[in-house]
Amino acid sequence: METSEDTLDPSDWNAFRLQGHRMLDDMVDYLEHLRNQPVWQPMPQEVRHSFQQPLDDGQHDLGKAHATFMKDVLPYALGNVHPGFMGWVHGGGTPVGMLAEMLAAGLNANLGGRDQAPIEIERQVVQWVRELFHFPKTANGLFVTGTSMANLLGVLIARTARLGADVRHKGITADNQQLIAYTSASAHLSITQAMDIAGFGSDALRKIPIDELHQMDIAALELAIAEDKKAGLTPFFIAGTAGSVDVGAIDNLRAIAELCQRENIWFHIDGAYGALGMLAPDIAPRLQGIERADSIAFDFHKWGQVPYDAGFILVRDGKLHHSAFASPAAYLKRESRGMAAGSPWPCDFGPDLSRGFRALKAWFTIKVYGAEKLGQVISNTCALAQHLKRRIEAEPQLELLAPVALNIVCFRYRSTDANRVNADLVVALQESGIAAPSTTTINGQLAIRAAIVNHRTTTSDIDALIDATLALGRCAARCACS
Ligand SMILES: *Cc1c(COP(=O)(O)O)cnc(C)c1O
Repeated sequence: METSEDTLDPSDWNAFRLQGHRMLDDMVDYLEHLRNQPVWQPMPQEVRHSFQQPLDDGQHDLGKAHATFMKDVLPYALGNVHPGFMGWVHGGGTPVGMLAEMLAAGLNANLGGRDQAPIEIERQVVQWVRELFHFPKTANGLFVTGTSMANLLGVLIARTARLGADVRHKGITADNQQLIAYTSASAHLSITQAMDIAGFGSDALRKIPIDELHQMDIAALELAIAEDKKAGLTPFFIAGTAGSVDVGAIDNLRAIAELCQRENIWFHIDGAYGALGMLAPDIAPRLQGIERADSIAFDFHKWGQVPYDAGFILVRDGKLHHSAFASPAAYLKRESRGMAAGSPWPCDFGPDLSRGFRALKAWFTIKVYGAEKLGQVISNTCALAQHLKRRIEAEPQLELLAPVALNIVCFRYRSTDANRVNADLVVALQESGIAAPSTTTINGQLAIRAAIVNHRTTTSDIDALIDATLALGRCAARCACS
């Protein structure tokens, strides 16, 4: 077969540069004028159907693809960049993070391993994370997709800690111990999934009841451990939560740390969004005990405002972390000089071999905004939650459904058939484009749940949420009666 000089690079670099500038300008315009747009709007059927073209639709032009993106993709995104977005726990991203993503993509670095500056950037972020959580120099960390993955890694490392590195070839059933894990009833589903995926089965996870502050009940936890031990089972893992997904509760991390030390149990923290509260001087004291964890899972893409995706796991015992994943392979041979130097590599600390340059957007975010400013953003979202709480308490038609510990507020519109009315109300709010909360269930009651994570959200957005809730609530209550 004949060879070709035809690459995928542009034949006209100047035209490409101009087109690139137009794309950058469009995204900067979008971010600058977000507020004038609805948070979210339903996608018309013809737009949805426009994404069902055959593999070769005959269009091979960057400008045209960009025009399609502007017309059919950008207006129908979820809207978590928008200041009125308060659903689930989504970060807002930043213009700086966007540019960092472009640089990372241009470099197209593979951070699995080898001797390269991008890995030093990841190691720099690992060092900052260690410092933030007061972990020793021997601790190690790794970027992963998100906290769901980081929680899974936490379970796998704890498994190796308990059963030894032999477990990696003999499997978890080899030495006849039945390993049991514990977390609170309001913990994130990803802990259950981690137990499932790791092969223990989700039945080996005890869901401990929560108290009135939505924190794991420590006495009930102690009791469950004692009962399992009496039954000949082996408690090996406790996942505390720092910032629960439904109400933002922080477990008593110090008490869990004591218990884990006494019982020789791995102390993992799901701090998906809450752990970065360490950046905020008014929140950090409430995370006391986090510095005693064996592993911490968290996301830079939530409170850290880094663009998706940027999850992270920090492990106190870096050697153990290595022994849970590292494997020799001829094609991954290490050297002391040349490109194969710099061992251990990130691929030795998790299941991914090829890895993107997630660290760069986190590095840029921290470098450009600074830890202090990022902490202020976190404090501000909590202050906004308190503002929302006060507005709810001042409105007779509204009712608070859970304590407001951090940045999440659960409330509802008072009505007969309240669960249905509030479910309809949340859909109406989302479709209004004014504000976008989501729902959760608190003690069997459907709650409107506003999670304030976005650095762009201000009191005017909170007030708009309240005004729209009252107006649409009247309407939803009327529709439910008729
Ligand atoms: C968001 C969240 C997760 C899951 O994190 P992902 O990054 O979405 O995988 C886990 N736990 C809590 C408490 C969360 O808020």
